[in-house]
Amino acid sequence: MTTTELQRTVTDAGPGAAGPLGEPRATSAETGPRRPSLSPSRAADFRTCPLLYRFRTIDRLPEKKSRAAVRGTLVHTVLERLYDLPPDGRTVAAAQELVAPAWAELSQEPGVAELFAGEAAGDLEGWLASAGTLVETYFRVEDPTRIRPEGREELVEVTLPDGLLLRGFVDRVDVARNGALRVVDYKTGGMPREAFEGKALFQMKFYALVLWRTRGVVAAQLKLIYLKDGDVLTYAPDEAELLRFERTLKAIWAAIAQAVQTGDFRPNKNRLCGWCDHQALCPSFGGTPPPFPAEAAAAAGWRTALPVTVV
Ligand code: SF4
Repeated sequence: MTTTELQRTVTDAGPGAAGPLGEPRATSAETGPRRPSLSPSRAADFRTCPLLYRFRTIDRLPEKKSRAAVRGTLVHTVLERLYDLPPDGRTVAAAQELVAPAWAELSQEPGVAELFAGEAAGDLEGWLASAGTLVETYFRVEDPTRIRPEGREELVEVTLPDGLLLRGFVDRVDVARNGALRVVDYKTGGMPREAFEGKALFQMKFYALVLWRTRGVVAAQLKLIYLKDGDVLTYAPDEAELLRFERTLKAIWAAIAQAVQTGDFRPNKNRLCGWCDHQALCPSFGGTPPPFPAEAAAAAGWRTALPVTVV
């Protein structure tokens, strides 16, 4: 796995891994956008709290890494590499052997080794074992010797006719002999309560929409694998639903564009604020956001009505 891929998964470990606000976050593609784009995680940010979207996407404020998020990264890396092995070599033992080298690479990423520095050093062994348990649980859900993925950690993107660029990373894409498409996503947390199911399916519908628009095939199955308990959530979208979903994304994008125009990103205090790294800058918690970075927004390709200083 390349450093870029590792960066992707560090920030994209899923709600069960990173806490609800840590749902799939900035992808590597988003850290250097060719032009503004929408990913499932950024759309979810804006729907949850427009100010959070601003802090993450426009201000690009740093956020602390969490052990849960990094463990999600580690497990995703192992499951991706498992499929580099020949089918009959994809055993639990072989997967466990992938954990240590993946951790050796991951620990070089900024902010990762610090999670186990000083007095916390003794926690590392147990933490790695917990990652191994999640990997083992995967084998209860699927038999990797029988799966031939077409894509892993695949960047999918499409530009809709109105110019909206949708992009995201899919954990795994399987294509059956008859051409049926399956989109698979690994979550290192547990199966969400109903309220979260919609959020998880939002991400999967996003991928299904992009794949439909790029391949002309509606995915036969969206499959979410929850490794904490070995649960599986599956869903079969249809064309009409994806069309409705596309309209939803366009509406979200229009609202984001309007907010960028005016710099008006309002906080929306919600039950996920406890996981937010930006409370100190949030009016809902007595803070004051920094001035809207109009230059940064313009440089990233946004249209803003706010004055941009030309240096
Ligand atoms: S703390 Fe503020 S910025 Fe963060 S999610 Fe809550 S309302 Fe939004």
